[in-house]
Amino acid sequence: MRERDTICAISTPSGIGGIGIIRLSGERSHEIVRRLFVPKQKEFEQFLSHRMYLGYLINPETSEPIDEVFAVFMRAPRTYTKEDMAEIHAHGGYASQRKILELLIGQGARLAGPGEFTRRAFLNGRIDLVQAESVLDIVRSETEEELRCALQYLTGKVSERLNLLKEQIKDSLVLLEAAVDFPEEEIFVDTDLVRRRIRGVMGTIEELLQSFYEGRAVKEGLELLIVGRPNVGKSSLLNALLRKDRAIVTPIPGTTRDLIEDVMYIKGIKVRVVDSCGIREPSDPVEEEGVRRVKERIGGVDLILFVLDGSEPYSEEDERILAILDGRKYITVVNKIDLPQGLQRDVLERRGVGWLEVSATNEVGIAELRERIYETLMGSQPMSNKILITNARHVEALKRTEDVLKKALEGLERGLPPEFSAFDLYEALHHLSELTGETAREDLIDEIFERFCIGK
Ligand code: GDP
Repeated sequence: MRERDTICAISTPSGIGGIGIIRLSGERSHEIVRRLFVPKQKEFEQFLSHRMYLGYLINPETSEPIDEVFAVFMRAPRTYTKEDMAEIHAHGGYASQRKILELLIGQGARLAGPGEFTRRAFLNGRIDLVQAESVLDIVRSETEEELRCALQYLTGKVSERLNLLKEQIKDSLVLLEAAVDFPEEEIFVDTDLVRRRIRGVMGTIEELLQSFYEGRAVKEGLELLIVGRPNVGKSSLLNALLRKDRAIVTPIPGTTRDLIEDVMYIKGIKVRVVDSCGIREPSDPVEEEGVRRVKERIGGVDLILFVLDGSEPYSEEDERILAILDGRKYITVVNKIDLPQGLQRDVLERRGVGWLEVSATNEVGIAELRERIYETLMGSQPMSNKILITNARHVEALKRTEDVLKKALEGLERGLPPEFSAFDLYEALHHLSELTGETAREDLIDEIFERFCIGK
């Protein structure tokens, strides 16, 4: 059986490195490594579990050493896969690692498929499916915040929440089924209680679904568009935010013709900042195209910075841009506060617009602006304990669960026989169990682990 094979793979990135780790999992892993490993230390009877032993990895046919390595033997079930595992810490180089892998295969190990170690951890019940998926998120995390979210999955915080939901649904099912099983006994079903419980579960699901926006923000980043009439200092502000010279700054109005973008990180959140060429009546075709793209882009971005020039009076052009921003999430930034001021703040006050004062070129107020950007996007609550859903598959499953719970609730409200709602609750349980992998289909599991790399 494939599941019983002893598998092996290089688990560190391929290429030249300080060390390269090859690992094995399966009942023959210790025996296979022992045949190839000669420890330097002579006097000991047996290898202890979870210890490192220094020695040589040898070619058993010639007894020639291949590399000087550490070998680790780990006995089930205290291992990543819950099976016997072994690791060989060799020098990180193509020839050594490839040769070792070849020798392991020669001794009967099989090359692992993508994510097969983690798949075994899941199949052997050490972690559930959402935890297994988070392993990939951890490996791919680029920011601290991403890592924090992935760890909430891996450490089981998300699973705990999901399992609690399952328990609550099961409790309601017990109540409903008493009536289904003994119809002639006239068992009283406290439908009010069941309904309250279902609503409670739906509330939690709704919260989790809401967190997907923030979760997506963490995983994929958010987009910030800088708008304002030409020469107010948009490119300078972009540079100040990014703290490097990304956009070309020129004193001629309208010279930033294209959308220029780059990425900044605020408290671990990736924010893509896009500088626009300014929204005004275009004077030539190149600019016209730029303006069209900005207008198009405004709809899709998460936040807009509306930049005004503090040294100049509020103009009709500013007013026109403000009108386009109506109904969107934006922050007004008054730039160039280092110069003599000409902008009438009372105009802004009358329009109910709050603003932040900065000087892009002198880097004044930039830290405050970054803080405001973060708060506007993510809220002021600390994220440290919040559970965030970051995976589209999880959102789908939660939505399906919510839908059938709604049906169950409606059934009870309309006074339908309890078995109808019981049926819906079973379905809700099924969706949640599929999410955590208890009842996940084989093809879904294949699909998830195919995205992993070999050796994970
Ligand atoms: P954009 O057309 O809106 O992108 O404006 P730019 O960033 O190209 O800036 C236009 C001009 O204003 C440049 O000469 C900048 O050096 C200048 N500028 C931008 N921000 C400031 C500022 O905070 N203070 C001063 N004194 N000049 C600024």
